[in-house]
Amino acid sequence: MELTGVLLVIATVVVTALGLVIGSFLNVVIYRLPREGLAVSKPSRSFCPACQNQIAWYDNIPVLSWVILRGHCRSCRVPISIRYPLVELLSGLLSFFIFQAEGLSLRYVFYFYFAMCLTAIAFIDLEFMVIPDVLVKPTYLVGFISAIASPHPSLPGATLWGYLYQSGWNERLISLAGAALAFLVGFLTLWLLSTVYKLLKGHRGLGEGDPPLLGLIALFLGLPSILPVLLLSSVLGLLSVVILVISGRFPKSGLGLRPIPFGPFLSLAALIWLFWGQRFLLWYLPPTYYG
Ligand SMILES: [Zn+2]
Repeated sequence: MELTGVLLVIATVVVTALGLVIGSFLNVVIYRLPREGLAVSKPSRSFCPACQNQIAWYDNIPVLSWVILRGHCRSCRVPISIRYPLVELLSGLLSFFIFQAEGLSLRYVFYFYFAMCLTAIAFIDLEFMVIPDVLVKPTYLVGFISAIASPHPSLPGATLWGYLYQSGWNERLISLAGAALAFLVGFLTLWLLSTVYKLLKGHRGLGEGDPPLLGLIALFLGLPSILPVLLLSSVLGLLSVVILVISGRFPKSGLGLRPIPFGPFLSLAALIWLFWGQRFLLWYLPPTYYG
């Protein structure tokens, strides 16, 4: 194997391991952020939610420890949620695939951060029906910095991009303007839908955190991603409701049925679009769109 090949293998292993370790940290965020009286940084060591015992470093190795302990705490034998190895594995895979797509670049850093943020949002919303502001707002800033530092065609089609470029606009400025426009359109689309629904039905059909989340997704993935992400997340949400109802496992709260959070489906659709969106557009749109 040539030197570059060896380096690439090493980089891939390091990047995947980094994903697994960050996934382990993400579990801490997912557990502590929505709970009162717990800060992400305090206590600094991980503890078992059941017996409060500190978790030794050798019981805290991503995925592996969960498998070795067969999903139980070493001290109190209480089962540990499968979410822990799942989030770690997912983070490792996301890091691996984003690295495959983007290489060791700024775009890798920004997209990986975005993917980690979506993962945390999805799992927190699934359990607590809330999308923490503290996850969304700082990520807006990262999104705008990413648009400037690593310009990407967030505008619909290269035609408009090319037109602005030829009119003397700076590439980074077009990217920033496109990202800002995408954010606004994404946010307003869901905000309008949610407001109209509330006016017609008299109660909320969407969570408060959903419009800002679609704004965030549009900010990173560009204007052309909004409609497909919205459609895909609705289909995925509907599909899971059908599966839950058929299997008799639809969650109930009190007398009625518990509402289903939309955040996890928006996040999942955004991740799917992150990997396959560009390919889909190239296949779906006429070649002149990109000319
Ligand atoms: Zn325990």
